[in-house]
Amino acid sequence: MIRDVKLRATASRVAVLKLLYGTSAPTSHPEIYEAMRSDGWDRATLFRNLVDLTNAGLLRKRDLGDRLWRYELAGIEANDEHPHFLCTVCGDVSCLPEIAVSMPNGAGPRSLRKGQVEIQFRGTCDDCLG
Ligand SMILES: [Zn+2]
Ligand SMILES: [Zn+2]
Repeated sequence: MIRDVKLRATASRVAVLKLLYGTSAPTSHPEIYEAMRSDGWDRATLFRNLVDLTNAGLLRKRDLGDRLWRYELAGIEANDEHPHFLCTVCGDVSCLPEIAVSMPNGAGPRSLRKGQVEIQFRGTCDDCLG
């Protein structure tokens, strides 16, 4: 995958992709660093990897409104857009299945009609709901 987008498949880029493959929710740079530091990766290298892989289109960067960038694998399809759920109690984030939102004809900004927007839910997750 990494070579397909004309990047060198360095060990750290491969490790970052592998980690995100095994993760089902968008993951922040600090979380990725925590998961990988025991293998000897440093913070700056991992951050550069995330930026490179995002610029190359393999990852997507998410801002879920809590000022923390999270990264996830970009879908195979360019328009694989799905909403996210952010728990306002514990900060846990999860991916939700794709949903359709219908707007009255011509309503809202153009980017909305082109699908260039993100849908996000905020609420209380099952664990916090008790
Ligand atoms: Zn929660
Ligand atoms: Zn997601």
